[in-house]
Amino acid sequence: MSMVVGLTGGIGSGKTAVSDAFAALGVPVIDADIVAREVVAAGSPALANIVSHFGEHILTPSGELDRAALRARVFNNETEKAWLNNLTHPAIREQMLSQIAAADYPYCILAVPLLIENKLTAMCQRVLVVDCPEALQLKRAMRRDGSDEELIKNIMRAQASRTQRKQCADDIIDNSGELSAIANQVALLHKQYLALSKAP
Ligand code: ATP
Repeated sequence: MSMVVGLTGGIGSGKTAVSDAFAALGVPVIDADIVAREVVAAGSPALANIVSHFGEHILTPSGELDRAALRARVFNNETEKAWLNNLTHPAIREQMLSQIAAADYPYCILAVPLLIENKLTAMCQRVLVVDCPEALQLKRAMRRDGSDEELIKNIMRAQASRTQRKQCADDIIDNSGELSAIANQVALLHKQYLALSKAP
């Protein structure tokens, strides 16, 4: 069984840049955002449940989940949000575990934006946090998404704080500099993780 390194960080912190650097070294990356889309793919049992709960209008004309419509239904509605999470979270967890079991490498990266918030650190042998000052997170996320400042700030407020995240970290990647500074930090961690995964 591969050692599991949970990779997390706030919005715009640079998780994708970091997981791409691990993937470039040949490390398997399991991405929670992709898994979350797979479990509600057309024809999935979870999607059938969502349709019977919310109605057919939650589907696009081609039969896919209409994410914007679903977001609108659960926004500011804690009961509906809890119902949806109770349905999808166990399915996401199960799918992640099966991808971890299938990983044919000494360790794998489990990239989860809300690793700490959703208490998925229990699935990981190590927690790696991508960190940069909040002002940089805000600037980078706004530039990437073309979103306004308030929207990104609201998302940041709903996430764990920078301090909370760092308290859970075994390792930290400092992404306050140039993008090119990530590769060296990842190369060092890669060596450590290979050594750790061999340790008894
Ligand atoms: P999210 O959780 O919102 O998906 P993320 O943590 O995966 O975000 P990235 O998508 O990797 O973050 O980075 C956010 C944006 O900032 C991207 O456009 C990325 O190219 C850019 N970026 C990341 N790191 C740096 C850096 N060191 N310098 C400049 N731009 C950066």
